[in-house]
Amino acid sequence: PLAATDLIEPHRICVCVRKRPLNKQEIIKKEIDVVSVPGRGSVLVHEPKQKVDLTKYLENQVFHFDYSFDETTTNDLVYKFTAKPLVKSIFEGCMATCFAYGQTGSGKTHTMGGDFTGKQQNSAKGVYALAAQDVFAYLNHRRYANLDLSAFVSFFEIYNGKVYDLLNKKSKLRVLEDDRQQVQVVGLEEVYVTTEEDVIKMIQTGSASRTSGQTSANANSSRSHAILQIVLRRNDRATTLHGKFSLVDLAGNERGTDVSSNDRSTLVETAEINRSLLALKECIRSLGKNSDHIPFRMSTLTKVLRDSFIGEKSRTCMISMVSPGMASCEYTMNTLRYADRVK
Ligand code: ADP
Ligand code: MG
Repeated sequence: PLAATDLIEPHRICVCVRKRPLNKQEIIKKEIDVVSVPGRGSVLVHEPKQKVDLTKYLENQVFHFDYSFDETTTNDLVYKFTAKPLVKSIFEGCMATCFAYGQTGSGKTHTMGGDFTGKQQNSAKGVYALAAQDVFAYLNHRRYANLDLSAFVSFFEIYNGKVYDLLNKKSKLRVLEDDRQQVQVVGLEEVYVTTEEDVIKMIQTGSASRTSGQTSANANSSRSHAILQIVLRRNDRATTLHGKFSLVDLAGNERGTDVSSNDRSTLVETAEINRSLLALKECIRSLGKNSDHIPFRMSTLTKVLRDSFIGEKSRTCMISMVSPGMASCEYTMNTLRYADRVK
């Protein structure tokens, strides 16, 4: 397992993988675990029944990331290695983003801890709550006291390329870009918060709004990106933006080809999701290459996160979730290939 001493010097882009355990139904169905996390940062997808002998695999059949978390890893530990350094960075003026990527059912919401619909009430805190906890710890720390900052929260959803405010009756918002390329979500609710509980309350309100009117909560939420933003502003007249942390629970990355439905709206949804995930990959890659050209206009998702892709002060972490089962093997490979391309 990872220890605190394994924490590597934070860099602008961090890509890691988290494997979830087999669940009860999968165990009953005798589903076979085909994913191994043999060492720090490495992930291996192997044939069932075959004993995992690493020496048998060529270098390119094993994927390597900054960190890889096996099925025994807690949210707490994942947080320490991924989002925690980003929370610190926003106090130093950074625009940070943490993405949860993966197939529906792979553990994105479990990791982010954004499921406050009642189902997971007793589960361990996720990245949302842990990040909020640290934000207020830093706000009250004397090291940052002279900055004179306040924290605000926004929570919105992108569905079919449209932005909906989860803190304001799911109202549809416009995204505008001004002549200095600044992107604004017009009218987005930004709520002043002073405690972790305040933030949790906002997430609860937002999550309830996210799933209302749907028969299947998961079916709905897996088709949209949910973005929680914690914004630090200076207590000056203009409430100047100091730093921003965007926590993104991405739509499921399952491909359109395996959607059996011929339903037009499903096809449109899928095409839009694929387009935004492709745009995201391109933007993070450009950021990694220190490229001047960041193709953020390719999708609404990358447009609203523009700040996070541009300039010296941008920081990104992607946590790619994978399911361990044989049945998910193809999706798992897709997720690992995507993550591999991003880094
Ligand atoms: P997603 O948001 O990617 O669709 P969820 O987070 O809803 O997936 O996870 C699907 C199910 O698996 C949930 O019941 C969740 O509690 C469980 N799960 C996911 N990751 C873990 C984990 N690391 N440990 C235990 N259970 C998990
Ligand atoms: Mg989810």
